[in-house]
Amino acid sequence: MSENVPEDCLFCRIVAGTIPADVVAESEHSLAFRDLDPQAPTHVLVVPRRHVPDLAALATASPGELADTVGLAAAVAGQEHLPGYRIVANTGAAAQQSVFHAHLHLLGGRELRWPPG
Ligand code: AMP
Repeated sequence: MSENVPEDCLFCRIVAGTIPADVVAESEHSLAFRDLDPQAPTHVLVVPRRHVPDLAALATASPGELADTVGLAAAVAGQEHLPGYRIVANTGAAAQQSVFHAHLHLLGGRELRWPPG
């Protein structure tokens, strides 16, 4: 963890291993673990190890780490044999972001309708 990590950030603690999670994959810059409240048969959160509040901030801080996070999501989709999948990044409280450490939701394993709710 970097020195500017908020002590109270849930996902920083999961990355650090001080809060348990059902980890399904990891890479140099990212960690993937199952969501506690799954909205689909596969619902995995993919987070950068670096603490930034949202995905756009990750893109600004490090495009390479953003690519690593997206790449890990795709790898998990392959691991789970998903024929198709959806990646969601709720950004801001108005869009239902509740944890302000950047993360992707990887959703699949059922029919995914469009438009989303
Ligand atoms: P968001 O609302 O987009 O910020 O997504 C945060 C997600 O984190 C939600 O889908 C929660 O169900 C999930 N979540 C919260 N706490 C945990 C935890 N300890 N382990 C795994 N997922 C969690």
